[in-house]
Amino acid sequence: MPTNPYAWIEESLATIHRADWYRSVQTIHGLPGATVLLEGREVINFASNDYLGLAGDQRLIAAASAAVQEFGTGATGSRLLSGHRELHRELERAIASLKQTEDAVVFSSGYLANVGTITALVGKRDFILSDQYNHSSLKNGAILSGATIIEYPHCDVEALRTQLSQHRQNYRRCLIITDTVFSMDGDLCPLPALLDLAEEFSCMLLVDEAHATGVLGETGAGCVEHFGCTGRQFIQIGTLSKALASLGGYVAGSATLIDFLRNRAPSWIYTTALSPADTAAALTAIKIVQQEPQRRAQLWQNVAYLKQIMQQQPLSLILLPSESPILCFQLPSAADALKAGKQLKAAGIFAPAIRPPTVPTSRIRISLMATHESAHIHKLVEILAQVFA
Ligand SMILES: *Cc1c(COP(=O)(O)O)cnc(C)c1O
Repeated sequence: MPTNPYAWIEESLATIHRADWYRSVQTIHGLPGATVLLEGREVINFASNDYLGLAGDQRLIAAASAAVQEFGTGATGSRLLSGHRELHRELERAIASLKQTEDAVVFSSGYLANVGTITALVGKRDFILSDQYNHSSLKNGAILSGATIIEYPHCDVEALRTQLSQHRQNYRRCLIITDTVFSMDGDLCPLPALLDLAEEFSCMLLVDEAHATGVLGETGAGCVEHFGCTGRQFIQIGTLSKALASLGGYVAGSATLIDFLRNRAPSWIYTTALSPADTAAALTAIKIVQQEPQRRAQLWQNVAYLKQIMQQQPLSLILLPSESPILCFQLPSAADALKAGKQLKAAGIFAPAIRPPTVPTSRIRISLMATHESAHIHKLVEILAQVFA
């Protein structure tokens, strides 16, 4: 008897429900900001990657609108065919200048930048060492490349050294890949030690600055600048969609690397160029990052303020180690995290539950913005104290 070849999908979905792993979207109305309308109610927004509060900034909106008027809505083709505009080069030069690299190239998303770059750099004869907590785009880029992958324990430099000593000589090229700010934890990779190991074992190092660009470093250049590693040779990837409040990704590095990627990264060659609106918004955001360091200073003040008043409250919460505006409270199960997320939302705090398979252990994730006011942060701690009493 023929069976329905799609029946398994419903069963699989039922399994997801049973594990409390089911996910669905929630609708936001109006402009993004420190407070948003979530399903019709105003909530304080601790769920956004818009660290500098630029996604609703009138200057970005004006730049995007002007670009649409001048260049239209779509890029109409890939960069190598009909999609390339001077605006794209301006943005790439601005990224290279922020990062102090020879050149940069923009992709249609950070995800595509990672997938395209990793697959261009390594193949079947090569070896990837990947931090266990890396973002999905690094992990899937690694799988797609066909290289041999070993995940090393989170931020464990000694374990990484052991793997390199044992395996490096068996492969042609070796690539170490890591988030700089870990997106679901908030801690930083041990960048100087990773760079030293990469040099010692003749490996390439690719770092993902998605949550660091605009946030860390004296000029907002990221974790690389924070650790004083600017100018050393490696590959920096990031997104235009977090602190830069637009959409798209980038790779920054040597002119040779960037030229190679324009010839070899399939997710750059075979996809449509960034839209004029996204390009113009990101370009304006980079100018603001460079001209208004007070936004970054305010963000870090907010981080310090939250940590300070959390310490004064006798909360029984386990705060995961963090050196970024991302703060996570560990919870025993996915069901607990979901329940806490719902209670917070009912009390006017938007802070999502992050569950497996995104992370190994469930948690509530808070991300701070430069535009949060002290009253917002106070309210957060007050509600956390009630929910986790
Ligand atoms: C968000 C994120 C990405 C993906 O960037 P998009 O531009 O949103 O595709 C890649 N890496 C990390 C670490 C991220 O947090």
